[in-house]
Parts: sequence; C-alpha cells; structure tokens
Amino acid sequence: MLSNLPTHGWLAVLPDAASLALVVLSVLTAAFVGLPLWANSLVLLALLWSAGLPLPVLALVAVPVVLFNVPALRRALLTDRLAAFLVRAKLLPVISDTEREAIEAGDVWVDGELFSGKPDLHALVRTPWPGLSEAERAFLDGPVEQVCRMVDDWQVWQDRDLPREVWDFLGKQRFFGMIVPKAFEGLGFSATAHSAVIQKLASRSMPLAITVMVPNSLGPAELILHHGTDEQKQHWLPRLARGEEIPCFALTEPAAGSDAAAMEARGVVFRRANGELALRLTWNKRYITLAAVATVLGLAFKLEDPDELLGKGKQLGITCALIPTNTKGVVLGRRHDPLGVPFYNCPTSGQDVEVPLDAIIGGVAGAGRGWRMLMECLAAGRGISLPATSCGGAKLVARAVGAYAGVRKQFGLEIGRFEGIEEKLARIAGNAWLLDAARLFVTGGLDAGLKPPVVTAMAKYQFTELFRESINDGMDVQGGAAISRGPNNTLAHAYVGAPISITVEGANVLTRTLMVFGQGAIRCHPYARREIEALAAKDRAAFDRAFWAHVGHVIRNGVRAALLSLSRGRLARSPVSGPSAVHWRRVAWASATFALLADLAMAGLGGDLKRKEKLTGRFADVFSWLLLVTAALRRFEAEGRKSEDLPLLHWSCEQGFLRMSQALQGIVRNLRIPFLSWLLRGPLALWGRVNPLGHGPHDALGAKAARTLLTPGETRDRLTAGIATEPEASRGLGRLEAAFAACSAAAAVQGRLKDAVKRGELQKAPAERLLAEALGKGLVSAAEAQTLRDAETLRRAAVEVDSFTLEEYLATAGKLAQHV
Ligand SMILES: Cc1cc2nc3c(=O)[nH]c(=O)nc-3n(C[C@H](O)[C@H](O)[C@H](O)COP(=O)(O)OP(=O)(O)OC[C@H]3O[C@@H](n4cnc5c(N)ncnc54)[C@H](O)[C@@H]3O)c2cc1C
Repeated sequence: MLSNLPTHGWLAVLPDAASLALVVLSVLTAAFVGLPLWANSLVLLALLWSAGLPLPVLALVAVPVVLFNVPALRRALLTDRLAAFLVRAKLLPVISDTEREAIEAGDVWVDGELFSGKPDLHALVRTPWPGLSEAERAFLDGPVEQVCRMVDDWQVWQDRDLPREVWDFLGKQRFFGMIVPKAFEGLGFSATAHSAVIQKLASRSMPLAITVMVPNSLGPAELILHHGTDEQKQHWLPRLARGEEIPCFALTEPAAGSDAAAMEARGVVFRRANGELALRLTWNKRYITLAAVATVLGLAFKLEDPDELLGKGKQLGITCALIPTNTKGVVLGRRHDPLGVPFYNCPTSGQDVEVPLDAIIGGVAGAGRGWRMLMECLAAGRGISLPATSCGGAKLVARAVGAYAGVRKQFGLEIGRFEGIEEKLARIAGNAWLLDAARLFVTGGLDAGLKPPVVTAMAKYQFTELFRESINDGMDVQGGAAISRGPNNTLAHAYVGAPISITVEGANVLTRTLMVFGQGAIRCHPYARREIEALAAKDRAAFDRAFWAHVGHVIRNGVRAALLSLSRGRLARSPVSGPSAVHWRRVAWASATFALLADLAMAGLGGDLKRKEKLTGRFADVFSWLLLVTAALRRFEAEGRKSEDLPLLHWSCEQGFLRMSQALQGIVRNLRIPFLSWLLRGPLALWGRVNPLGHGPHDALGAKAARTLLTPGETRDRLTAGIATEPEASRGLGRLEAAFAACSAAAAVQGRLKDAVKRGELQKAPAERLLAEALGKGLVSAAEAQTLRDAETLRRAAVEVDSFTLEEYLATAGKLAQHV
C-alpha cells in the first residue's frame, strides 16, 4: 500500500488514497487513449517512482516491463513458444484458397474503424457524402420517369413480361450501360446515380428493376470493364451499353449454390485441327437471370489444361468466359418461376461447347483468375442493386401505407391513430429513413473508389432484412387491401418478391454468419490477419510485433469498454454537439464492447469460432447495426441537421442500439471460453441488462416518427423522395395519394364538426345529415362542406379493392399457366 511508502516522491504531497487513485487513473487514462506499450510502461514507472516506491521494488516492477518492451527478449522467452503452441494446437483458423482470395479482394473502409474499438468519430462524420451530377439528375427526371410511366406493373404480371417497347426503350436509352464508361458509349454513372435509378424502377415494378439491374451488376460488363483485354473492351462494352447484347452471368449450379466455388462446370484447353488453341466447355447452371433472352452468357467454370498448352499448369482453377448464346451446343430457353414474379430466370447447360481461347475474360492472363474477379466485382455490386431495390421498396411502403393509415377509418377513427398501427408506422418510417441514409453512405464510399466487401455484405444483409420487416408491417396495416391483388394493390407484388432479394447475391444466413463477421474479423481486425499470415509464413518477428500490439489493443478495448459502459459513453468525445452527440458517444461505447468481445471469442474459440455461427451471426448484427447507426448520424449532418428529421434520427439510433444490446446479451450468455464463461454469463450479462446500450425507441418517440407518414408535407416527401409516382390519380398509389391529400385538407373542418357535436351544437348523426345541419347553422361554409364531401368520396374510393368476373379471373390464371 502507498501508506507504507517513503515520502520522497512528489505524489507524497497528496493523501495516500489520492495518490493511489491518481496512479490508477493515469494508468487507465493511458490505456483508454491507447498509448503504445512502451509509453504505457513509462507512465507506470514514472508514477510509481513519483509515488516514492523504493528502488528495489521499482526494479522488480521494471523486470516484466523490460521483458515486454525488448522484442528480442520477449520473443525468446514468450512469443516463439506461444507461436509454436498455436500452430501445434491448431488454434488459428484454417483459410482455404478461395477464402484467401475473397479476403484479399477489395478494401477495408469504415468497417476497420468500427471494428477497432476506438473509431475515429471525427473521420466518420466526414465520410464522403455523395450527390448527383446534372446529367444524372436529368436522366432520372427524363428517361427513368418516362419508363416508369410506360410500365404498368399489373399488366406486366398479366403478360408475364415487360412490353416490347419498354425493352427497346431501355436499350436505346442506355439503361443497360449505366456502369459502362462514356468512352465506350455507356452512361458512365456513379454508384449513387446507378442506385437512384434502380431505387426508382424498383418502386414502380420489380421485373423492370431486375431487368435493368442484372446487366449493371455482377456480369459481363462489370467483368470486362475491370478485367477484360483491350480488344474485349472495344468489342463488348459498346454493344452492351447500346443494348444490342443482352448479358447474363451463370455461376450457380445444382450442387453449387452458396458454395459457388464447388462448381462442377469444366473447361478444357485443347488444340484445334487448324492449330489454334480453344476451350471445350461443359456446364449445367440454374437460376440464371435473363438467360432465356441473353445474347451473351458469362460463364464461371474450372479450367483444366491437361497438356499444359498455356504453360500455366494442369489445373488452372476458376475462370470466367463470355459465350455468345448462339454458339453451337448452348442450351437455353427453359424458365424457372421465381415466386411468380415475371422476370427471366432460367437454367442453362452445354456439353462440349467449343469457344476460342479469347472468350476467357482477360485472355490467357485471366485463366484461373475468375474467383478473384468475381469477389472483387461482388465487393462493389452488393452495395448497389439490392440495397437500392430494398430502399425503393421501403419508401414505397412508407408512402402507400402512411396514406392508407391516414385514409382508412375503423371505429370512427383513421386507423393511423390507433397505437397498434402507430407502432408499425414508426418502424416503417424509421426503416425508410435509415435505409436511405445507409444507401447514400455506402454509395458515397463506392464513388470514392473503394470496394469494401464487408461493408457491402452488411448492406446486402441488413437492407433486404429491413425491407422484409417493412413490407410485413405494411401488409399488416393495409390488411385485406394489401392481400387482394389487382391494379390498385400497392404492396402485394413487393411482398411476394421480398424473399428473392434475401436469397440472391449470397443468401442472407450465410452472408450474416460467414461473411460479415467471419471475413470481417480477419479483414477488419487490426492484427488478426497479420498474425495468421506471419504464422503461416513462419515469420516469428512479424508475429511477435503483431501479437503484442494485439495484446495492447485488447487491454485498451477492455479499459474503454468498462469506462464507456460505466459512463454510458460520456467519456468519449463526440465530433459534434447537439442532439446527436449522445448517439456518437454510444457508437464509441458499442465499438469498444464489440471489439473486446470479438477478441475474447477469437482467443477463446480460435479456429472453432468459424463454426459457431450463432455467435458469429450475433457479432454480425452488432457490427452491421454499428454501420447503420453511423450512416444515420452521417446523413443527419450531411443534410444540415434538420430538426424535423430528429424523430427519425433518434428512432433509427435507438432501434440500432437496442438491436446491438440484444445481440451483445446473446454473445455474453453463450460465449463459452475457458476461465471467463462465469464472468461473461454472470456479472457481465447482469450488467448488460442493468445498463444496456439502448432500450429501443420510446413510445412517444415512435409516435413522432409515425406522424411523419401521417402528415402531408416536406418531411414526408423527403422521406420518400426518389420513388416513382403513379401517373393516374384514380389508381393504386395515385388514388391513395389523392384521398390522403383530400382527407388531410378536410381534417380541420371535420374536427370543428366533432367539437360542435361535443358541445351539443350539433346532434350526432350520419355524415351527410350532420353536414347539412352544420351548413344550416352556419358552422361550415358551402366550400368547406364540399371539401368534406370530396374527401369522403375519395376516401371511399381509396379503400376499394379490385374484383374480377370469373372469366377475368380465369383469364389471369390461364395466362399464368401458359407462361410457367
Ligand atoms: C431469382 C434468383 C435469381 C438468381 N440469379 C442468379 C444469376 O443471375 N446468376 C447466378 O449465378 N445465380 C443466380 N441466383 C442464384 C443465387 O445466387 C443462389 O440462389 C444463392 O447463391 C443461394 O444458393 P441456393 O439457392 O442453392 O441455396 P443454398 O446454397 O442451398 O443455401 C440454402 C440456405 O443455406 C444457407 N447456407 C448455406 N451454406 C451455409 C453456411 N456455410 N453457413 C450458414 N448458412 C449456410 C444459405 O444462406 C441459405 O439460407 C439466383 C437465384 C434466384 C433465386
């Protein structure tokens, strides 16, 4: 104890307890801010010396300090033995070649900050926020608006295809070449513009959006653009951009779905009779979007060169090639029926199909490089198409369901005024705002030239799940009106199609459990990958450096997690002041807790963690909600801190921190690691329940968020900006909008009538009689009475649902049967 120490140090001027507190505080502060080990050691020694510790005791303390700070000593005595043990005990994750290529593809971005435990909040608040160029805006207001008007989604479902003139228009207006640079006759759009186009098309018609999405996402254009030879670029890109070639990309097979690298498609290099080298390809692919109408098939297969004609070995690995679909032996034409959603989704096969060697994307140099190409392209693509589709869908739900809840009356009240409905509306509004924030946050990164696969995997997973949540809520609010299909139904087709987004581009269960955290832990962790690679390369010096830096990192995060939890984040410095500062601080707190637990799980479970998917899934939830909350906070700043958006910002953050808390609770209660399980499951789980990161949005906050959907005006319009409007005011969304505007305009007069009844000036009576009496008594003017009557007419029309004669009904079913 310090009370027994001699009093020559300057700390002696303080009482003993204060000295002790100062030493502890200084050491904790040094750890909290993350000083390197040597600096931490100096702080400790200086403080102990100042406290008057006798030299022999100081020397004793100095022994481990020196040991840990002198690399040669540290390695000889500790690290080399530890490294040998880790290798012997197989505690490090085994990374397959395909996993390694996936891990090496693309960039680490804000995911690295959020995984660090000490994110640079000042950098996060300055992440690039994207905008649209004049040309991109003009395209959205011109051709995109026009094609939305040309497409009647109900008719598309009846005809089981887009009209011919829409296909032609899409080609002519370069919709299929949004990602192709202008130099190759494409539109050369940014990721943000590409996303805005898909968002708008998706809100009008899913088959329309999918048809445009596929040529612009992972597929021939993307692969040729980044990996093609000059000749391939010159040949294919202008044709694809002009819509003269319709592409598809075939990766999935009956035995290779999520595990795409297990593909059985084969290519063999051989020499033709004329001496030219060529490929003989055999494949059986399924679920290939656009395949039946494609003119060029992108194919992934494993390439073999038994006679080593290319001089690169016998097994070259996964390779991508472009095959004109009129090549002899290409089998196309059959269709799958993806939940009845009328877009082209098909199987394709080929047996010993011969193509020239230059069909390989990237030429001979591209042989065997297919997996890496696919991983790199997916790294960007996952952040655009499906997030845009989900965001467009979530905004459509917000607009249509809000209007319906403001128009539909039961028990004498608009249903939006019932708390049960309000709860759903709050989630619909919050999700729409949050998804738009995250959409722009992610495309901002992509437009800055980054390809962050973990961020885009988080986006793909969370966007599609949150859209599913929104559409389910929307269906509940609209009730029978959502279930009865017909030209006036605004939700049913989006509801039916929701599982498609969940499954494609990496089915969500796998994306969540294996990609977001599985890959994230290796990619985004500041030291894990360096340690694994150093051990694999038997580079003990590199392992020593990474390992001890890692130890310091864990100590820092442990101290940060404890202090930030005790202070509920107040010890972190927010990069902004005002109402959002509290959330920024909680981002720091959540990141420290997440990083600490991730390290404990990695250290305690080693390579086994990969198989503990219930744990990695929960880690993925914390990680991806951290990203979403950060995006929401960034949006609030980027849009000039609009006070009317505060309910939506607070709702999004509270929801995010609640989800993080639930996932963290699940982790501490289920993480089984030697010596620490009792601490995690007992005191820490209890502390997490007493002092969670978040409790979720308060009811009053939910009410404010819901009101944004029930009040016509700028906030509602901004919340749902960028989606297609219904051109016909008497149909579907148009009919709802008209009724909503009229009912909102009539609300004040309606309120006056109600008050008059309450005061006894009017007798309770059916609407028309009440109005006549009010008119007679001069309580409303003739114009106001007409406003009320118009609103009532529109209200009644808006809640009507479609019905069919038996012939019409059977004709619809017959058309369906014909096309399936
Ligand atoms: C409408 C539609 C369009 C498509 N378009 C194309 C296209 O154009 N080109 C193309 O090549 N492919 C396309 N696909 C294929 C799509 O990418 C696959 O469906 C997807 O990869 C999943 O494969 P699967 O359906 O065989 O499911 P499976 O691989 O059988 O997976 C079934 C379930 O198991 C989960 N799972 C699998 N492995 C794991 C694991 N290790 N850990 C945890 N969970 C796991 C999955 O997440 C999923 O939930 C399309 C699919 C559909 C439905």
